[in-house]
Amino acid sequence: MFERPIEMVDLKSQYARIKEDVDRGIQKCIDQATFINGPSVREFQVNLEEYLGVKHVIPCANGTDALQIAMMALDLEEGDEVIVPAFTYVATAEVIALLKLSPVMVDVDLETMNITPELIEKAITPRTKAIVPVHLFGQCCDMEGIMQVAIKYGLKVIEDNAQAIGADYQFSSGVKAKSGTIGTIGCTSFFPSKNLGCYGDGGAIMTQEDALAEKMRIIANHGQVVRYYHDFVGVNSRLDSIQAAILDVKLRYLDEYCTARWEVAMAYNKAFGDIDALLVPQTASFTTHVFHQYTMCVQGGQRAALQEHLQKLGIPSMIYYPVPLYKQKAFSQYCAADFSLPNTEILCEEVMSLPIHTEMKPDMLAYIIDGVRSFFIKK
Ligand SMILES: *Cc1c(COP(=O)(O)O)cnc(C)c1O
Repeated sequence: MFERPIEMVDLKSQYARIKEDVDRGIQKCIDQATFINGPSVREFQVNLEEYLGVKHVIPCANGTDALQIAMMALDLEEGDEVIVPAFTYVATAEVIALLKLSPVMVDVDLETMNITPELIEKAITPRTKAIVPVHLFGQCCDMEGIMQVAIKYGLKVIEDNAQAIGADYQFSSGVKAKSGTIGTIGCTSFFPSKNLGCYGDGGAIMTQEDALAEKMRIIANHGQVVRYYHDFVGVNSRLDSIQAAILDVKLRYLDEYCTARWEVAMAYNKAFGDIDALLVPQTASFTTHVFHQYTMCVQGGQRAALQEHLQKLGIPSMIYYPVPLYKQKAFSQYCAADFSLPNTEILCEEVMSLPIHTEMKPDMLAYIIDGVRSFFIKK
């Protein structure tokens, strides 16, 4: 056993390094009693706009709300089809169903585990109104190709950027843009374990369009333009002042955090390169990877045995995600019983994520690497 407990993500050690600044930010909100819509919310919003190079950031209560508010703002009608990857976290499709829209699930690429313009285009029908690319595990989808498909068919694009904040997308022209700022709207989550996480729930919506930003601000605030005058039915979705103060501190470290994760991932990639049964994560040429998760494929039906082997060594591992969206009971009405997508099926059988975070020490990393290798290479 390793001398310290190993966790998928180490938020305690991360806090220890920024404790003074974070504590000061929290205390200030309490001293000022500015718990809702305090100055820290506005400060964080402006700093995030600048970091992302996006015109508007609208803070909200969580990443799922961000997706819902985005879809409410796009004037979609009951039954309209929205394309989503079948291999993703449930939140992406959940809000589509909640708004009485119809989620259409498409397969993902085996190497990047993301949807592609080709797979999207095959699923488009006259009812299709929007696409939700999910930048899964920390790398961008092919946004240039996706935007071309969107323009060709007149579709809106909502980027689910909950796992990739900080990633850079590079267009074929060489121009770069931050993930979440390329589509019609971008959505992100500040859930504690996300790459930019707060100490509770939080989320944000991004857009370059003034009118859309205004509309989403109003929707997130009970549909009120002037206080107590409600133009349409909205929701109550706010980022707490205290959470904003924490995020404003952590935003300063985001690039450093992304690098730290990337270094862990590169060490894993290097250490597992010679193991035939392990397919290490591939990064597409047009994006950086911020490794929200380090997710590899374990071939030959050995995943459960490897997990068990690691567990005995005190090394946690997780399966993100074990079940395709179309096999979830909650979504059965949208898919035929025999609906199946080949790559999604393979990934659900083979993916396995290892611990990755900003505070990984070399001795712990070496222990995890040895633990994985010892399963395949018997001494
Ligand atoms: C975390 C996550 C969400 C939802 O964010 P919450 O803040 O938990 O509501 C949505 N989509 C993806 C891909 C996520 O990873």
